[in-house]
Amino acid sequence: MVDINCIDVTPQYKSGYICSYLVDSSEKRLLIETGPMSSVAKLLDGLADLGYSLSDIDFIIVTHIHLDHAGSVGQLVSMNRGIRVYVHPRGLIHLNNPIKLWSASKKTLGETAKLYGEPTPVPMQNLYAPKDGEIISIDEDIIKFIYTPGHASHHMSIFLMKSGVIFTGDSAGINISGNIIPVTPPPHNPIKAIDSLRKMINLHPRRIAFTHFGLYDGLAYLERALNKWVMWTNYVSEWYNEGLDVATSYRKILDLDEDAVRLERFYNELSLGNNEILISIDGLFKYYEWVKRD
Ligand SMILES: [Zn+2]
Repeated sequence: MVDINCIDVTPQYKSGYICSYLVDSSEKRLLIETGPMSSVAKLLDGLADLGYSLSDIDFIIVTHIHLDHAGSVGQLVSMNRGIRVYVHPRGLIHLNNPIKLWSASKKTLGETAKLYGEPTPVPMQNLYAPKDGEIISIDEDIIKFIYTPGHASHHMSIFLMKSGVIFTGDSAGINISGNIIPVTPPPHNPIKAIDSLRKMINLHPRRIAFTHFGLYDGLAYLERALNKWVMWTNYVSEWYNEGLDVATSYRKILDLDEDAVRLERFYNELSLGNNEILISIDGLFKYYEWVKRD
């Protein structure tokens, strides 16, 4: 069996929000997610604590290109040119040339983007875009790439078929100490997100590895994420149609969803993504505006 360890790559002195997973098979070692640019030193320290250095890493897989998941890939590859990087085909160009990604991130995330740091380019020859359902073998397991759009159009989840572990990136929301909420910043597509959750449930994974944050046993966490997505989208579409605004809908979600209240508290203590939930509600509003326009 492979060993899976979460290296905490939450920026600065903060902790408990972002995992980079070291997957350790007998001959191959890979990272699933790298965390942000500002956490490279933390990642290297975490690897050292587990007895490794960057030169022991064979490849990196990122679920999507957002700064908190893939921000340091360019820097890591510049330190070990032999690393192969797996990314969804729609994300590949943005890892190679992150200028647009950086300006879009600053617009959406504001100060948080600066805290994550500006990504550097990954050379084209290090990048590889797997197809949906494509598999690669590592000595003790088989890795399957599962396209899971919704949170982002270029999102994929990573399934270790023998261990039964799925790495969900942001496609199953965030799970902090068992509190689960959807992550739906613009541009978000809730229909695709819900389809993606069903697709993952149908794989019957035994364990769920959330980038935010940690490994959990059981399918129930995916089912809870699905229920949350359905609940949020039903309510928010109703409020949108009634003419409510984003701020009011945000407060109404906090009234209805205790997990969201606890996560809002967590975000405030972390002082990292203070407006995350509000931005998520905005993402759903923008989706309904888009549907109405078309
Ligand atoms: Zn994320």
